[in-house]
Amino acid sequence: MAENARGKLVVVSGPSGVGKSTLLARVLRQTEVPLVMSVSATTRPPRPGERDGVDYHFLSKEAFAALRGRGEFLECFEVFGKGDWYGTLNSEVTPGLDQGKWIVLEIDVNGAAVVQARYPEAITIFIHPGSVEELERRLRGRGTEEESVVARRLARARDELASAGQYRHQVINDDLDRAVGEVCDILKRYADAAQRD
Ligand code: 5GP
Repeated sequence: MAENARGKLVVVSGPSGVGKSTLLARVLRQTEVPLVMSVSATTRPPRPGERDGVDYHFLSKEAFAALRGRGEFLECFEVFGKGDWYGTLNSEVTPGLDQGKWIVLEIDVNGAAVVQARYPEAITIFIHPGSVEELERRLRGRGTEEESVVARRLARARDELASAGQYRHQVINDDLDRAVGEVCDILKRYADAAQRD
C-alpha cells in the first residue's frame, strides 16, 4: 500500500449471537491488513467481563444524548427497541482513516446503511449463522439475558438476515476457522487491489 494512503472502512454485521466478536478477534490477530476495531458507544449495561473503552464506551443515556446532540456520531440507533442506544463515534473513525488504518465497525444493519451512504467504498461483510436453530441455541447458551430479551433478539435476527443482500460479501460462520480465513481473504483482495492502484 502506498505511503500515507487513506485507510478503509470495514463494516461487519450479522445477527446477535452469530459469533461476530470471536470471529473478528481472530481476524485481527491473523490478517496482514492494519485493522483496528472501532469501539462503539452504548447505553446498555456491561456484561460480566466487558471493559469500558475496550468492548464499548459504556455511557449513561444523558451522556449519549449529549454526544448525539453535538453531532459526534457517524451513526447511532436504538438497536433493540427497548431504549438502549448504540453508535459509532466520528472520533473512532476519522483519525484512524487519516492515518491509513483499516477501521472495523461491528454494527447493526441500520447503522451499516448510514455508513454505506456516507462511505460508498466501505467493505461490507455480513456474517450468517449455520442455521437459525444454531443461532437460537447460541443466544440461549449465553445465559446472561432474560427470555424476553432472547425472544426480541431472535425476531431481530430474522429481520437482520433479510437485509444481508445489501452487503458486498457474505460469510457463513458454521466453522470458525474457515470463516476467519474467508474474511482474511476478502481483506487481502482489497489490500492487493489497493497496492496495484
Ligand atoms: P450487543 O448488545 O450484543 O453487544 O450488540 C447488539 C447489537 O448492537 C449487535 O447487532 C451489534 O452489531 C450492534 N451494535 C454494536 N455497536 C453498534 C453501533 O455502534 N452502531 C449500531 N448501529 N449498532 C451497533
